[in-house]
Amino acid sequence: MIYLDNAATTKPNQDVLETFMKVNQSLYFNPNSPHQAGLQAEQLLQQTKSQINDLFNLKQNFDIVFTSGATESNNIALKGVAYKKKAFANEIITSVLEHPSVLEVVRSLESEGFDVKYVDVTTHGQIDLNHLKSLMSDNVGLVTCMHVNNIMGQTQPIEEVAQIVDQYPKAHLHVDAVQAIGKVPLFFEGVDTLSLSGHKFHGLKGQGILFVRNIHQLEPTIHGGGQEFGIRSGTVNLPVDIAIVKAMKSAVNHTQETYYHLSKLNDELRRFFKDYHGVKINTPEQAAPHILNIGLPGVKGEVLVNAFSKYNIMLSTTSACSSKKASLNEVLLAMNIPKKQIEGSIRISMSAYTNETDIQTFKKSFNKVYEEVRELLV
Ligand code: PLP
Repeated sequence: MIYLDNAATTKPNQDVLETFMKVNQSLYFNPNSPHQAGLQAEQLLQQTKSQINDLFNLKQNFDIVFTSGATESNNIALKGVAYKKKAFANEIITSVLEHPSVLEVVRSLESEGFDVKYVDVTTHGQIDLNHLKSLMSDNVGLVTCMHVNNIMGQTQPIEEVAQIVDQYPKAHLHVDAVQAIGKVPLFFEGVDTLSLSGHKFHGLKGQGILFVRNIHQLEPTIHGGGQEFGIRSGTVNLPVDIAIVKAMKSAVNHTQETYYHLSKLNDELRRFFKDYHGVKINTPEQAAPHILNIGLPGVKGEVLVNAFSKYNIMLSTTSACSSKKASLNEVLLAMNIPKKQIEGSIRISMSAYTNETDIQTFKKSFNKVYEEVRELLV
């Protein structure tokens, strides 16, 4: 099987699985327990958090909150900040590019009375910085901007966004960096909260991280025993938390290598598709190397995914979260991609494990699928 759906989820690294098993066997204690074993677990939890900060050589350490994934991290951050600032800065700025775990939270906050503004998107899939500047004011309490898009792979100018937001002391900047880690360097300067999800970088499903510059910026939204600074109550899952750090170390320490490896494969695919009449490359040139979105106008994306699946190639239409929805994808729409091209779009997403042989096999299958559908192409 050739797996090209790594933006949906990745294969866990062997040492991640082993760490998860080992810590479950030998250190299954509750870090909140007052006995010796609990204290040992607590000590390890704190060491793990320091290791995360050390990994990024940050000028100022972040508070690390372990969560069940990026959906939870995004929810905790966005609601937590919005509620904290509601009385004095109730405007939220976002864009339609965001993942549903951001967009749906913001829409829900809108229904609660927050004033939500959407930044315009350029045809390259980036937020329009001049429009962002024009939307900023002292009423803005929260700006949320993803680093790498999960459907197209385009990156956002986080550094420039941070500089703009920094001029407004009441405004908090949240970054969903789920698709960035291990593929492009993460950017922390001027960022107040940042979300990650273990299963996108060869960790496990059900593990996530929220980086928080200042924990007092967040109103707790998950109430209970007061674990994780009181903002994410629930017994700490130490084996999962230690395992995610294993995956992180590997992803972060190999980012440059992975970037070059995947850029080569990405360039090869781009060159390959150019020879096929009717095949459009949707992903802009300035993008993270692991995601390549293409469109075959005239054919439905689902048909293509099924055709590839028959040849044992796993890829996806737009994203796993939205592929079951009938409506046209908002990200592609915002980039002014024609309707038929959106309907016929598929996402090829690679990981550090994707190799040249996988790409060669994919190319052969692509040729067969193309022959099956070429009469339908417009
Ligand atoms: N943000 C982005 C950009 C994603 O791609 C995803 C997963 O598809 C998420 C958030 C949600 O992550 P999780 O599956 O950990 O909840």
